[in-house]
Amino acid sequence: ATFGNLSARLTETFKNLRSKGKLSAADVDGTVREIRRALLEADVSLDVVKDFTGRVRERALGDEVNRALNPAQQVVQIVNEELVGILGGEQRRLQFAKNPPTVIMLAGLQGAGKTTLAGKLAKWLKGQGHTPLLVASDLQRPNAVTQLGVVAEQAGVAIFAPEPGNGVGDPVKVARDGVREAEAKHYDFVIVDTAGRLGVDAELMRQAADIRKAVNPDEVLFVIDAMIGQDAVATAKAFQEGVDFTGVVLTKLDGDARGGAALSIRSLTGRPILFASTGEGLDDFEPFHPDRMASRILDLGDVLSLIEQAQQAFDEEEARKVAEKIASDSFTLDDFLKQMQQLRGAGSLKKMMGMLPGMGKMQEQLDNFDEREILHTEAIIQSMTKAERANPKILNGSRRLRIAKGSGMTVTDVNQLIVRFEQAAKMMKTVAKGGVPQIPGMGAM
Ligand code: GDP
Repeated sequence: ATFGNLSARLTETFKNLRSKGKLSAADVDGTVREIRRALLEADVSLDVVKDFTGRVRERALGDEVNRALNPAQQVVQIVNEELVGILGGEQRRLQFAKNPPTVIMLAGLQGAGKTTLAGKLAKWLKGQGHTPLLVASDLQRPNAVTQLGVVAEQAGVAIFAPEPGNGVGDPVKVARDGVREAEAKHYDFVIVDTAGRLGVDAELMRQAADIRKAVNPDEVLFVIDAMIGQDAVATAKAFQEGVDFTGVVLTKLDGDARGGAALSIRSLTGRPILFASTGEGLDDFEPFHPDRMASRILDLGDVLSLIEQAQQAFDEEEARKVAEKIASDSFTLDDFLKQMQQLRGAGSLKKMMGMLPGMGKMQEQLDNFDEREILHTEAIIQSMTKAERANPKILNGSRRLRIAKGSGMTVTDVNQLIVRFEQAAKMMKTVAKGGVPQIPGMGAM
């Protein structure tokens, strides 16, 4: 897939990090160097790479990582946030005209996928109850009009095209007439397909600029083939100067390209990516979500939702207080209960763990983990006196029996809980010393 290599490289980098507790400046530098190499190999433009790694480095050396319960995850989080940033941050939706029709003009090199995109957009809009009209203003390429006709038929939408056999028509006039037709017949969207050349040339730009002036589009979408690698930068700049555009559509993201264009284009042009095209079929198309693309690139399963849930589960301040208590041997059963309750509050623990990649070994333990156990734990601890919770060492046989009766559990259950509590306390001690945190109550993982 497009970001296959990049994903693999980044995942490898993070895997090395994940086994570490606290991160030294050297760890951070090593990671940043790897990220930089991976991005450059993916054909991301040098300026963008420099900016990106600079920001990641600065944040990774800062407080948010230092204070984090799990510094490695925090670094992944930062890389993710910065990736979302260079991909545009928030999703940018298509702008609708106040007074229909909304006019969308497509521009880009020949073979970028404009005509195909016209069909995809039209089908997508139609699926949302709109009535798009396709306008064939690509009179350069033989067959372009026919091809748009085929696409229109597949999408089940109308097309406006010059009569065949009228010689070389005037693409600007066709575009203008197309929009008038849409106004007259109350189509609410017009999609104007324009000519592209194999390379950027002055005449092509002039024509595109003239069409733009003639139809005053609500959106000019620059269609760019993600496979063109480093050329993407020059092409995008040429189109920005020649025609300017309001948004970008990335095509052929299904290919084996290294995908650098996708990561560079937003920063280089300041224009948002609106859609992504992922195949030749009319349905191989989707609105572009920077956050989803970033997770896809990071390829860490849903590691980020995991991190989010974990952060909700363990309020960091709280966790640090607990860690301090353990370090000074004052971790109580009350703390233990609170932690279990926080875990339960985080939703299904199993589901949460299932999102972690590489957790096959843990799956077994998860299958043995029963959420009812948390309820039993609660019942037992709530049957203890304050003094017992604060100092489990005083729990002798007769106390244990009383607690078992009070909670409706057996003495064995009570004993097991105390063993688990002691294990958890031991594990938490590791955390306090800067180790990798474990989920208390689940045994060693
Ligand atoms: P235009 O010259 O810009 O109008 O480009 P076309 O729409 O004719 O597309 C050029 C070629 O790329 C055609 O063979 C399309 O089927 C193909 N194509 C367009 N979009 C995609 C895509 O997202 N993925 C793949 N694999 N092929 C695409």
